[in-house]
Amino acid sequence: MSHEKPTQHQFQAEVGQLLDIVTHSLYTDREIFVRELVSNASDALEKMRLLQLTEKEIFDDQLPLEINITTDETAKTLTIADYGIGMMRDELVENLGTIAHSGSKAFVQSMKQGGKEGGNVIGQFGVGFYSAFMVASEVKVFTHSWRNDGEHLVWTSDGTTGYSIEDAPGQRRGSRIVLHLKDDAAEFAKASTIKHVLAKYSNFVGFAINLNGERINTVEALWLKNKSEVTEEQYKEFYKFAGHAFDDPRYTFHFNADAPLNINALLFAPTQNMEQFGMGQMEAGVSLYCRRVLIDPKPKKFLPEWMRFIRGVVDSEDLPLNIARESMQDSALFRKLGQVVQGRIIKFLDREAADDAKKYAEFYKDFSRFLKEGVATDFENKESIAKLLRFESSLTKEDELVSLPEYVARMKEGQKTIYYQIGPSRQAIESGPYLEAFKSRGFEVLYLFETIDDYVVSALAKFDDKELRSVAASDVDLGETTDEGESLGKEETDKLCAWLKESLANRVSEVRLGKRLVSKPAMALQSEGDMSPQMRQMMRAMKKDDFGAAQVIFEINPKHTIVKKLSAATDSNPDLAGLIAGQLLDSALLSAGLLEDTHDMVGRVEQIMEKALG
Ligand code: ADP
Repeated sequence: MSHEKPTQHQFQAEVGQLLDIVTHSLYTDREIFVRELVSNASDALEKMRLLQLTEKEIFDDQLPLEINITTDETAKTLTIADYGIGMMRDELVENLGTIAHSGSKAFVQSMKQGGKEGGNVIGQFGVGFYSAFMVASEVKVFTHSWRNDGEHLVWTSDGTTGYSIEDAPGQRRGSRIVLHLKDDAAEFAKASTIKHVLAKYSNFVGFAINLNGERINTVEALWLKNKSEVTEEQYKEFYKFAGHAFDDPRYTFHFNADAPLNINALLFAPTQNMEQFGMGQMEAGVSLYCRRVLIDPKPKKFLPEWMRFIRGVVDSEDLPLNIARESMQDSALFRKLGQVVQGRIIKFLDREAADDAKKYAEFYKDFSRFLKEGVATDFENKESIAKLLRFESSLTKEDELVSLPEYVARMKEGQKTIYYQIGPSRQAIESGPYLEAFKSRGFEVLYLFETIDDYVVSALAKFDDKELRSVAASDVDLGETTDEGESLGKEETDKLCAWLKESLANRVSEVRLGKRLVSKPAMALQSEGDMSPQMRQMMRAMKKDDFGAAQVIFEINPKHTIVKKLSAATDSNPDLAGLIAGQLLDSALLSAGLLEDTHDMVGRVEQIMEKALG
């Protein structure tokens, strides 16, 4: 054991900022710090219990796995002690001197970006251990690691610039956190206050909690209970406790099954999508239990990656209790269990969507990203996840949504394909040249507004055995247009096409008569296998810019006045005709989302204006 002098440490800059916000914001719900510290204690005990299964050499091995809380009104202190894994010296520095918790990072980031009213935002993020400084003027963390070569240490800080670490002879295994309460937080030194705060969730903690020596919780596995025995309030508290969450659950899914596997699951979809706050990917949030014993808090590959927004607990009697996690993850049973749960979650969402479309639409607004990711990556489930997608379309109003099954159900007789257009907005799509031919035939077209949608439709490829096709694909055959109108003759059209091909040189791969055009003079189509505009955008964003300019199939409308006059101008006014040709193509590319450089266009339009004005 070492007897070093106290060492002084500075907080990492982000911790400093976080603490500044935590200590200075008027936060109404200050009591949440109790939940944060008890939940840390419970995590440390869970880890200890797992280590006891595999490790032989454990410091203070005979200590019970429990949490002891003591209050002292005279000294104005609150102490929360656990016999968990404790911390080594370097772990103290790493865990309590830097930001480990992703929620806290996001919190600091969002404060930096928006400078939003701290008091309101703070409740949406887990600030973890640092929340202690909302109520304490000084925090001491006494600790000894479970490792025999650990030290007896105490970490001390007033939550301003830094902390010190000193020896603390006699400290048992685990962590003992002593809060010296601020004057305005003296109530937290009262047993009655703490008891009241603990009442909400202490029964979800899987270990005994004693308050001033008196046991106050009965360990309760909510998920093993019957739905009818659980109140809405209990679900909420459990969600917050188990999911380290600060919002309310949006959906609660509690189910018990016996066949093909025994499953007791209590799962939640959150209200807030934390990934929208600009932080990294969420971690998987469903823990795996066997008969109320935690087997794995974050089982890898249990649920597919896209379901990482789901929080909660899955308990199965069929799981082996003391098998190494690594080998469990390879077992057929583990995979089967995961598959059954996945299937149930998808069906659950489908049912919720049918029961309350409005609520689902709100959920969809915040969480569609995950569902889309699911369609693109979860090969086995893609068709059933696709049922959960929603789109605006040529038949819906703005903000009104249609599902793929609904689309299919109202397809026109003879329609074999599901049509979609990807575009930045409803307006952009509706003012473009593609839609009208489909509309005039009564074919519904789905509007896809997000870049990622391109991946989604190409991964899905088919729904209900019907192909998904972009309206901008060159080989969509809608037959001849029916409406009459004076058209350029065949010979003149061919001549104009050939002239355009030459005049537009390497910008087009083909120029041809367009059968789908109604009121627009021309449009650009993608040849099969060509990169979509969205893909191009992405490639450009990734700076893979060496993929050449788009070469499109250029279709012209021989009934359109501009096209007819252009045909004549190729002889009478070739200069102007050349400018018009370039502009026709640029307009078409613009509608297709393929115009990459608008510089040429501006200059050209000026030339055209000059000529038009004589
Ligand atoms: P989080 O618990 O979400 O990771 P915290 O800020 O609450 O974030 O805690 C940071 C880290 O400090 C934890 O991840 C854990 O490693 C460590 N820690 C906190 N409390 C304890 C404790 N009672 N026993 C052991 N380690 C702890």
